[in-house]
Amino acid sequence: MTTRININGIIEEDAVVSVLDHGFLFGDSIYEVVSTRGNRPCFLDEHLQRLRRSAEGIALTLPHDDEWFCQQVAFTLGSAGNTESYIRIIVTRGIGEIDIDPSTCHSPCVLIFVTSARIYPREWYENGIHLAVVNTKRNLKDALNPGIKTGNYLNNVLAKMESDRLGAQDALMLNSWGQLAESTTSNFFFVREGRILTPALDCGILAGITRNTVIRLAEENGFLVEEGEWPVEVLEKADEMFLTGTVKQIMPVTRLDGKIIGDGKPGSITRKLIHLYENLLKGLG
Ligand code: PLP
Repeated sequence: MTTRININGIIEEDAVVSVLDHGFLFGDSIYEVVSTRGNRPCFLDEHLQRLRRSAEGIALTLPHDDEWFCQQVAFTLGSAGNTESYIRIIVTRGIGEIDIDPSTCHSPCVLIFVTSARIYPREWYENGIHLAVVNTKRNLKDALNPGIKTGNYLNNVLAKMESDRLGAQDALMLNSWGQLAESTTSNFFFVREGRILTPALDCGILAGITRNTVIRLAEENGFLVEEGEWPVEVLEKADEMFLTGTVKQIMPVTRLDGKIIGDGKPGSITRKLIHLYENLLKGLG
């Protein structure tokens, strides 16, 4: 496993970020995680578009254009030379006074972190994971909008710790109105009577790139997909559940709060979507 860290266009062996960087002090940063196929980045254009939207969301001007990001990602990937990689692009507010006011930060710090691909245990895909509905609510949309992918993930960290205490592999968060929202680093889907359902963006969730791709693939293959607002009780009649995310891809969920879903195995629609998604990725490699 080789890790390479590119800071502002230079790969540094002992990369460090200043303790006065507002990304470190206040979580004042944005980021993207990108996966690879054939060690080439997947959906990089979509990730860069979302990075730009996140930058707008926190009134941060990105110091480089997309071409620069593409070149630096390729340069860092090539330098690491892994078979498949995990890429994290981080843009922080930069160094400033030890004060919340970002106007003292004049130069954002751009980090491109590349290491070998993270892989979840195969049995999680074969048997599905256990998800726990946690008390920690997803951030309010008009407080810290979950649609902006900021480096301030404490909300999700607390939810993950809660799910760990409950003996589950991940957490399902609700929003402050008790509606289904999302998991800590993934979007949530469930299947009821053959229809694929997922919380709407208005529920206060990240517009996941995998979520969008799965919705498109499902619709192209004749499935009915509905985005909506649902209370957690709707899951009592769910036949299948799964999570989507760049690293996880499509992860079946077979237990919710200790209760078995369907026959306790990944459902047929989930398996079909995994197959379609895998074929799509193969085409990118
Ligand atoms: N929701 C949250 C909170 C996330 O952090 C992520 C990914 O990091 C996702 C959803 C899934 O997004 P994507 O499919 O773009 O990886």
